[in-house]
Amino acid sequence: MRDAEFFGRWMAATAVSVEREADRLTELDSPIGDADHGSNLLRGFLAVRAEIDAQRPPSPGAVLQLAGRTLIAVVGGASGPLYGTLLRRTGKELGDAVEVSDEQVRKALYAGVGAVAQLGGAAPGDKTMLDALVPGVAELSTSYRAAAGAAEGGALATVPLQARKGRASYLGARSIGHQDPGATSAALLLRALADTADAADAADAADGPAEEGR
Ligand code: ADP
Ligand code: MG
Repeated sequence: MRDAEFFGRWMAATAVSVEREADRLTELDSPIGDADHGSNLLRGFLAVRAEIDAQRPPSPGAVLQLAGRTLIAVVGGASGPLYGTLLRRTGKELGDAVEVSDEQVRKALYAGVGAVAQLGGAAPGDKTMLDALVPGVAELSTSYRAAAGAAEGGALATVPLQARKGRASYLGARSIGHQDPGATSAALLLRALADTADAADAADAADGPAEEGR
């Protein structure tokens, strides 16, 4: 089972990897955007981490709803409302249980990705974050690692696509040949989740079988 602390660690791990990759995300957003994706997400996830540290929400759902609200409040542009909706909707689906199962996480993220598609009107193949999120959540039934790998594959597969949504779509065929920044950051989010789950599972294993079923 996964508690509020787990989700706080996921958001903190995302902040760390966005911090590490911010320049690259902004570089990817230069030829097919306005060169702000890295700075947008860095501002967003640093604020998310700070808010979670300050407020210590009591449940997984409350952590993700706070994260989503924070992203919507502090990140301008397309990605703030979209990532904010992803996390808010996922958090709402988790309700106020103090612990949730991986199966609940899978279903909640699936609903969250559905909310992103509804808000942005995009589908896989449109060269957006959905090209990483959709294959990523589809693999959650296998493992968090498989989901992260599928999202990374989905991000790479945006290179030959022509953008049909967002700022990059204004470029038409000139958007072809560049990796989508939002798909790239979506893969970072799912990789941070997989790393957080690996660390939690390793800690559980080290605690030994006495911990099981607690
Ligand atoms: P902006 O485009 O407003 O500058 P960002 O640079 O932060 O915002 O984010 C750009 C990313 O947002 C794109 O790479 C794409 O993945 C994602 N995006 C843009 N529009 C949509 C949409 N309608 N649906 C899903 N994702 C989108
Ligand atoms: Mg941009």
